[in-house]
Amino acid sequence: MLTETPPQKTILVVDDAVSNIDMLLVILKDYDVIPVTSGEEALSLLDEEIVDMILLDIMMPVMDGFEVCLNLKANDATKEIPVIFITARNDVESIEKAYDVGGVDYVTKPFRPRELLARVKTHLHLREVIHRLDYLATHDSLTGLYNRRKFFELAQQLYNAKRDDVFAVMIDIDHFKRINDRHGHHSGDLVLKAITKSIRDLLPADSIFGRVGGEEFAALINAYNLDEVKQLIEKIRITVSELIISIRGGANLSCTISSGVAQTGEDITSLDDLLKKADDALYEAKGSGRNRSVFRQRD
Ligand code: GH3
Ligand code: MG
Ligand code: MG
Repeated sequence: MLTETPPQKTILVVDDAVSNIDMLLVILKDYDVIPVTSGEEALSLLDEEIVDMILLDIMMPVMDGFEVCLNLKANDATKEIPVIFITARNDVESIEKAYDVGGVDYVTKPFRPRELLARVKTHLHLREVIHRLDYLATHDSLTGLYNRRKFFELAQQLYNAKRDDVFAVMIDIDHFKRINDRHGHHSGDLVLKAITKSIRDLLPADSIFGRVGGEEFAALINAYNLDEVKQLIEKIRITVSELIISIRGGANLSCTISSGVAQTGEDITSLDDLLKKADDALYEAKGSGRNRSVFRQRD
């Protein structure tokens, strides 16, 4: 059986002494190590590369390790990377400061290789667990979409940033209960997965798309004109209606969705208003026969 090996973790080593770097390269031979000899180099490298951990010397010319760490923690793209300080300094002030500026651990030189390796492993493992828990806390496990809470958090950010150019879409699967009743809950789950995947594939990549209820989904789309959004939502509706979903026992299912779309305007003063307006439009789409989209443009 083929087993997948996890991708190798990347560790950035920042130390102005090449002899230290050489030693660390040997100790960390099982990792993908990127060595740099100054804080400036480290920061510019991190503009482009993603690393899993940083081993950071404190005493370096120009920019010391504390300053580098403060920079990293002030930047959204790098603030979650664990930083372990490796330094010859072992005074209380330095150790306290290392934690104050955001380090997760502190190792003094000369260090014991096995101990350093154990600390590296521990922090990499912790980071991975945090990532996994964060994913579970923010995503719906069936569809992989954002869950309700994360949808509202990210939608609020997009709304705040692009207030005048966002559209809210509420989507609900038509007569979904019948699918469960006739074919069982497992088949219903397959339908949910297939439909949400095809919607996700059609939405622009910067849209926020989440599962906000059992078979109800919401999207916030950044777009500039209603016609463009109308075309997109119609395309999604038609694509979903043409999906053929194979279920256990060889049967094929298909189903439809209804959508309500609302555009921001002077009557809208909050994200809640906008979603409410989209929800009203969805209600109208349901009431007027389903498998359709109702649009509410700006007043
Ligand atoms: P309408 O066209 O008016 O939306 O009718 P509907 O049957 O889709 O709506 P209703 O709200 O009556 O039923 C929704 C159903 O969705 C009921 C619920 O059991 C089912 N459902 C919600 N979450 C899940 C899920 O995760 N998996 C499955 N299989 N079914 C789910
Ligand atoms: Mg429904
Ligand atoms: Mg419903």
